[in-house]
Amino acid sequence: MDTYQGTCKYCGETKLIMEESQDAADEQVSKDCSCGGAKLEEIKARLMANINFISRKNEKKALSQLTDEQVKLLKRAGAEIVNGNCYKAVFDFESSKVTIWNAGEKYRIKRTATREEIAEA
Ligand SMILES: [Zn+2]
Repeated sequence: MDTYQGTCKYCGETKLIMEESQDAADEQVSKDCSCGGAKLEEIKARLMANINFISRKNEKKALSQLTDEQVKLLKRAGAEIVNGNCYKAVFDFESSKVTIWNAGEKYRIKRTATREEIAEA
């Protein structure tokens, strides 16, 4: 253990701390920092996992796997929503629609199959 000047990777705040290494000191200061960056990062990670989950193929719900580009789009929008730059985003991928929104304490994501069958006689 030694004294290091740890730097918060989210806001740049520094603090003297006893740790094993510089990396460990930075990590700890980032985690404990009052700027809330670590918590926001955690929320973002959860939302990204949910985006991956909702993008997968689900035959029962007539949903096909979204392309990498589409998933990237959703993740970018999700990050902007968590950052507070946008409240809600709706994507129309032709065979399905995805909505990501800020639901107060939580961030929600919904995917709906929009495929339909029409017959005329
Ligand atoms: Zn910070």
